[in-house]
Amino acid sequence: MRVDISDKKKIEELTRIDELTGAYNRRAFNDLFQRRLNSAIRMKNVFCFILLDIDNFKKYNDTYGHPNGDLVLKTVSQCLMNKLHRADDYCFRLGGEEFGAIFEAKTKQEALIFAEQLRYSIENLRIDHSGNDVSDYVTASFGMKCISELTSDISQSSIYKETDELLYKAKENGRNQVISR
Ligand code: GH3
Ligand code: MG
Ligand code: MG
Repeated sequence: MRVDISDKKKIEELTRIDELTGAYNRRAFNDLFQRRLNSAIRMKNVFCFILLDIDNFKKYNDTYGHPNGDLVLKTVSQCLMNKLHRADDYCFRLGGEEFGAIFEAKTKQEALIFAEQLRYSIENLRIDHSGNDVSDYVTASFGMKCISELTSDISQSSIYKETDELLYKAKENGRNQVISR
């Protein structure tokens, strides 16, 4: 079988996509992150990175079964991808029930409003989740880091670590919320 250039491109693209959800995978994330960061700052925009994690998802699987859990992951992912529709928006599945988003904003305030819309749009899917202690529905907690200038101590790993700490705070604070810096 002959594989032409467009097929090759399609195959390459598939290695960057999470099979279950259709979102970008961690490999694509590692590929993209630094370039998107540099580009956002060059364009004098705010670079925004979100880590979000579905709340009490273990209980969801325990209550409704793993296949239904998979369906939730697909639905949440689709919801995020629908909202992250601009050219410089990206949605990733970074782990089991953990997603990432990269987008640009004019101000941190605008970024916060957008993150809050993402959070609400997940809850507003109204997927029953009786084991969730913060809502009747499936929800997610968000950590968001906004960067408007590059300093020498900024790296992908330091941004990731800080955003993960913000996500942890959102969990600790009661879940289904956005904590940003
Ligand atoms: P928290 O609110 O603190 O995040 O609690 P949690 O229960 O969501 O977190 P925990 O890390 O305890 O559990 C994550 C669960 O996600 C456990 C695991 O079985 C489930 N999970 C991970 N990947 C998948 C998947 O691909 N499909 C399904 N159905 N479940 C998954
Ligand atoms: Mg979770
Ligand atoms: Mg998790």
